[in-house]
Amino acid sequence: MCGIVGYIGKKPIVPLLLNGLQTLEYRGYDSAGIAWLGPENDLCMFKKEGKLSNLRSHVDALHFHNDDAVEYRGIAHTRWATHGSPTDENAHPHTSADGNIVLIHNGIIENYTELRDELKAKGYSFKSSTDTETIVLLLEDILKTETNFLKALQRLTSRLVGAYALGIMDKRQMGKLYGVRNFAPLVLGVGDGEMFLASDSVAIVEHTNEVVFLKDGQIVELTATGYHIEDFAGKQVITDSETIAASQMILDKKGFRHFMLKEIYDQPDVIRRLLSEHLKGDTDPVSILDKPALALFKNPKRIVIVGCGSSLNAGLVGKYFMEAVARIDVNVESAGEYRYRDTLVDEDTIIIAISQSGETADTLTAIRQCKEKGAKVVTVTNRVDSTMARESDAVVNVHAGLEVSVCATKSFVAQVVVLYLLGLQVAEDRGTLKANELENLKHQLKQLPTQIETMLANTDTVHTVAKKYGSKENMLFIGRSMNYPTAMEGALKLKEVSYIHAEGYSASELKHGPIAMLDQDMPIVAVLTPGPLYEKMISSCQEAKARDAQVIAIHAGPVQQEAADTFDDIITVPTTHEWLSPVVAVVPMQFLAYYIAEHLGKDVDQPRNLAKSVTVE
Ligand code: GLU
Repeated sequence: MCGIVGYIGKKPIVPLLLNGLQTLEYRGYDSAGIAWLGPENDLCMFKKEGKLSNLRSHVDALHFHNDDAVEYRGIAHTRWATHGSPTDENAHPHTSADGNIVLIHNGIIENYTELRDELKAKGYSFKSSTDTETIVLLLEDILKTETNFLKALQRLTSRLVGAYALGIMDKRQMGKLYGVRNFAPLVLGVGDGEMFLASDSVAIVEHTNEVVFLKDGQIVELTATGYHIEDFAGKQVITDSETIAASQMILDKKGFRHFMLKEIYDQPDVIRRLLSEHLKGDTDPVSILDKPALALFKNPKRIVIVGCGSSLNAGLVGKYFMEAVARIDVNVESAGEYRYRDTLVDEDTIIIAISQSGETADTLTAIRQCKEKGAKVVTVTNRVDSTMARESDAVVNVHAGLEVSVCATKSFVAQVVVLYLLGLQVAEDRGTLKANELENLKHQLKQLPTQIETMLANTDTVHTVAKKYGSKENMLFIGRSMNYPTAMEGALKLKEVSYIHAEGYSASELKHGPIAMLDQDMPIVAVLTPGPLYEKMISSCQEAKARDAQVIAIHAGPVQQEAADTFDDIITVPTTHEWLSPVVAVVPMQFLAYYIAEHLGKDVDQPRNLAKSVTVE
């Protein structure tokens, strides 16, 4: 889930590794560690729970400087605990009992209990409660009978079940560093007399933009001057490096207090960029899909959208929209559920996979399974260099720019706008919308950036609402139709950054259960936009009010007097087409979550327990 950085070369190794980890820090983690080996083969290793700054100040205190004429190798890791709490002992690297092997791991070893028992029976003892330590001790055991290190790694992988990206050093393998990839991302960077290893190219792009994306089932042996890749069966893999965009990760808050706030303010530009690229004038055709990708949508039997978290919510908006405009049956599935079902996917199925990072383990596995059954996969992602993008039939770049805050804001809005464009292009191609309807939707889409800007210019009301309700322990979000997913997204934002319990429901579900919870301590956030279900929403709000719940309306345009009495607070949003309203309605929800979290003193950009790129299931 989190970060791997490895280096072999003559640069100052400690700052290089720590700065690499820092570029991955935004993804969320709970502890960090570093280890390096110099010419004398003496191991320096430090592990600290909590923020990277803890590790950094500890390591800085050593005043360690390597001689720049001498080659060093090292590995560093940010851990997102899956097995064992986030303590110094459980942080990576982990070492073998004889102290020769040093290893870092992203992922989960599913058969670790069995391996642990086996190793214990052989006399090995464990210093941590991680699944990772079984890998390093198993490798140690294998190396007792196998002297060829690559062959030992192959034997190791044949015993491991699960997802793993590994970075490994062995004192006896002088001048070498190893990487292993299986269902967790790993990339190697090719430098001039130096080589890099990372779980994401952003950690090394400052030093080189020549990279090799390892594939699942591959092992790499790095020296300072080259690399050698083999698959798990021991067959050599010849792979040339590729050049990626040299742009560095600029972690700049641009004067905002938090990245989340900056990213909320980025949204008009994100939408503008997408529209200027794919929708020129109101009567121009939409061009989000190229011709071969568009051809897939001509007559599919079914479309299935898969995603997790905010991407899943965006997918639900996409379903409602696509069905309405393109008249195709669209299902939306949580990727983690979908991958374990015997689904009816075939050659006539299109999978739209949505993932900000393009590395989400559940979504990636779901698309691989669907491809095996013959389906065509279109990936909607913010990272066109990701594994999902590379394994898909077509890729749509949401172009949201780097999203640093763990909690998705601008990437959600960008995904929704991409799905609108996709729906419109398919509708245009299939002739399912009247010309004036199409033009009207395009015209209104183009108004969205300015409409959001008006909201960003005045956030006083939502600020006041956040203060008023920030000490509540529960909150319910309701909406209908396309704003049912918006309600779920609003609840998700609040949970993620403020840790307040929140649920998102279709207002129609209220009386089927959740209404039992309503009282003066359970405020309701209700999305009301013009459309056939507006009156139904008013009724739901009145029902809530009758149970003493305070009702906060996110209301498009002015409120009629008789409705106004139903609401305790009103946050006005601009009026747009009902189908496009999720994009405006979600903005005050993002602010609400942000201001409440800030008011409660939470770590807004790196909420506890969360990771940005969920590369484990
Ligand atoms: N499963 C390992 C652990 O809990 C690795 C977690 C990670 O990917 O950071 O230590």
